[in-house]
Amino acid sequence: MAISRRQFVQGLALAGAGSLAASPFASNALADRSRPTSTPTAPSVPTKTGVSGRVVVIGGGMGGTSVAKYLRLWGGDKLNVTLVERSPAYTSNIMSNGVLTGQTTLSALQYRHATLASRYGVTVVNAQAQGIDSGAKKVTLSTGTSLTYDRLVVAPGLTFDAVPGLSVADYDTRFPHAWQAGPQTDFLRTQLLGMRPGGTVVMTIPPAPYRCPPGPYERACLIAAWLKINKPGSRVVILDANPKIMAEPIAFTEAFTRIHADVITYVPNAVLDHIDPATKTVYTSALTVKADVLNPIPPHRAGTIAAQSGLVNVAGRWAGVDVLSYESSAVPGIHVIGDAIGTTMPKSGHVANAQAKVTADAITRIFSGRPLDSAPATSSACYSPITMSTASWLTGVYHYDPATKTMQLSKIAEAPSITAGNYQDMAKWFRGLMTDTFA
Ligand SMILES: Cc1cc2nc3c(=O)[nH]c(=O)nc-3n(C[C@H](O)[C@H](O)[C@H](O)COP(=O)(O)OP(=O)(O)OC[C@H]3O[C@@H](n4cnc5c(N)ncnc54)[C@H](O)[C@@H]3O)c2cc1C
Repeated sequence: MAISRRQFVQGLALAGAGSLAASPFASNALADRSRPTSTPTAPSVPTKTGVSGRVVVIGGGMGGTSVAKYLRLWGGDKLNVTLVERSPAYTSNIMSNGVLTGQTTLSALQYRHATLASRYGVTVVNAQAQGIDSGAKKVTLSTGTSLTYDRLVVAPGLTFDAVPGLSVADYDTRFPHAWQAGPQTDFLRTQLLGMRPGGTVVMTIPPAPYRCPPGPYERACLIAAWLKINKPGSRVVILDANPKIMAEPIAFTEAFTRIHADVITYVPNAVLDHIDPATKTVYTSALTVKADVLNPIPPHRAGTIAAQSGLVNVAGRWAGVDVLSYESSAVPGIHVIGDAIGTTMPKSGHVANAQAKVTADAITRIFSGRPLDSAPATSSACYSPITMSTASWLTGVYHYDPATKTMQLSKIAEAPSITAGNYQDMAKWFRGLMTDTFA
């Protein structure tokens, strides 16, 4: 069973490339077609696994939803799984850059947890987890109630720092980062629509590690493509705190130096000093730029509940884990997955989904007294739109290295060229990932 689980995790990474599907960006109607559908082949929860226990999962995003589903699928019906999610619907960050260009909408990117309950028997609680008592093995909720657990999985995603000159509230009211899909994404689109032709969009990128390494570059490309049509003469200035393009350097170099050379200025080593909100001027170690539309992607860190619960022990920002089980290296009995952890793997939805499966496997082994899988694998796949009709892609497979006790990149592949076919394949990859997570 361990081998088939490992193959399952890897298989998803490579599933998208090469097959055609309707693009989620082609129109809003097509965006709906990229939604997960209930597959006739959906597996059912087994009954006689011999596994029992109580697991509480905090966070119903890419990592948390996947782990809840696979705990039931692999652990069986005596494994009591409760998912705590504060929002009634999850809005996918993946594909959300398409909202900025009007190629999709936030509502087309929303996913509910109803199938998790009806098909897999997960108890879904809409509440904010407010505290963890790891001694009593108890999670307190905003509803005033609490949940006890044998094992807890924490998958809270991120929280965002203020940057010098701006408060966290400014992201909602003046300068959206839109690095968490939601109202800020629509707000940024509204600002782009209202910008004068010939205006300047300025984006800042925080030092790595940050959520979705190619994401900011992808966003810049899509905005550039949209500006060419809708706001001629406008520019996009990318102020990157990192020394180089952090993902898909071949594709994005091509994009910045050829395809969008007339619009995009890419500035590496541009460490943010401060922002003057009155003049919308961004001061960095490399360049000072005045913006018409300002998109500051701030440094981020593990979601608040992780820090509150003593789980953050990597660089003061991330939760450290044993990647054989994703059990916290700070607090026993608690597993942490997704963007909140500090590991060698990128912070991506695809990786969070893969980590969730390793964790579900590990917890079922722990409950049944079996040893952990000593050679887990995870995978990552990313499609990056370069224009509104072409894309590139990147996949990677990570294997456990016993010497360093880390996940090491063992296989990497990048699209040989930027094509319309890749753009179409993106829809199949996205639908596969979201179906595997939410359906
Ligand atoms: C613009 C953009 C594009 C991206 N594109 C891609 C891509 O192409 N491919 C890819 O793989 N990844 C992509 N990503 C990254 C991906 O979205 C994240 O890596 C992924 O969502 C991380 O999953 P997670 O489960 O850790 O966190 P999330 O998906 O953010 O989920 C966290 C959940 O926890 C809930 N929560 C937090 N705290 C509590 C609490 N105390 N109580 C209850 N609920 C709580 C939140 O409401 C949220 O639903 C992109 C990100 C962005 C911003």
